[in-house]
Amino acid sequence: MSAGAKVLSMATRRLARTSDAATPLVREDVPQFVATVVEVADLGGGMRRVTCEAPGLRDFVTCGPDEYVGLVMPAAGRPLVMPDPDAVDMRASVAAIAAVDRPALRWYTIREHDPLRGRIDIDIMTHGDTGPGSAWTCRVRPGDPVGLRASGALYRGLEVTGRQVLVADESAVPSVAAILESWGGPGDAADQGVEVHVEVADVSVLRAYELGDARVYVRSGRPGSAVVPGLAGALAAGGGPVRYAWACGEAALAAGARRVLREAGVDRGSIYSCGYWTLGKPRP
Ligand SMILES: Cc1cc2nc3c(=O)[nH]c(=O)nc-3n(C[C@H](O)[C@H](O)[C@H](O)COP(=O)(O)OP(=O)(O)OC[C@H]3O[C@@H](n4cnc5c(N)ncnc54)[C@H](O)[C@@H]3O)c2cc1C
Repeated sequence: MSAGAKVLSMATRRLARTSDAATPLVREDVPQFVATVVEVADLGGGMRRVTCEAPGLRDFVTCGPDEYVGLVMPAAGRPLVMPDPDAVDMRASVAAIAAVDRPALRWYTIREHDPLRGRIDIDIMTHGDTGPGSAWTCRVRPGDPVGLRASGALYRGLEVTGRQVLVADESAVPSVAAILESWGGPGDAADQGVEVHVEVADVSVLRAYELGDARVYVRSGRPGSAVVPGLAGALAAGGGPVRYAWACGEAALAAGARRVLREAGVDRGSIYSCGYWTLGKPRP
């Protein structure tokens, strides 16, 4: 069985089936783990890899290639206080924790899961202290506690045959790398019609990733200002109909990618786009 088929069969077993390719994969179970950070590594260009270990991660089964977790990050100098594991609304459950111990909550993609060691790697794009996720990532050290809550996955392209397009900025490059691996690697993904468009401010952030023949656009203006026109040009140049598209990263980039895909005639139900973060605004 190919790597892609394996993930798809896992997803089929574990998920409430949803109607179209634009609908994320929602888990029926959302296990929560208290983990320990065991390694922190700088990957280049501001990207940090945080490796988390918890006994429960040995039995954990991811539901899709870009499964993401809610990362519960303790306030500086405070212990980890976890939200109620049975609460459906995780944000509300974190908000109910007393202010002095209230952890930060942000969502990050699992870059790699190692069930043998009960570990996951999460790659986080840092931007100084301007957000709680980045601030925690800059200060975290091996031995620190962190909470994880499984959530679901967004990519549905393993179910699709034909040309597909992935669009990302730095924050979504780890997701793209995981998606390409689920196809067996960038070469196999390209053979199946997967086309990658990535926008970054500094190409050194890509050093740690195997992206094959990805088209890389270097941004000097606002997010999306390089990749959105680049994608429009690629779509206008031909290459056949796009059967599926996944666009994640800064909100305007994701929305811009969706717009040019729609203008190129891609069916609404075949496009998944997600604003991972918003320029100038904290994530709600
Ligand atoms: C499903 C999903 C998966 C995700 N996976 C990943 C992942 O694997 N890796 C990853 O790095 N992020 C990922 N994100 C984004 C992540 O959840 C955070 O939104 C992001 O890290 C910013 O959080 P923050 O607390 O640092 O800043 P926020 O509180 O969101 O923002 C504070 C300020 O920082 C600015 N800011 C935020 N992000 C950036 C940035 N990248 N560059 C420059 N300025 C920024 C904002 O514009 C704002 O002014 C994912 C998001 C979702 C929804």
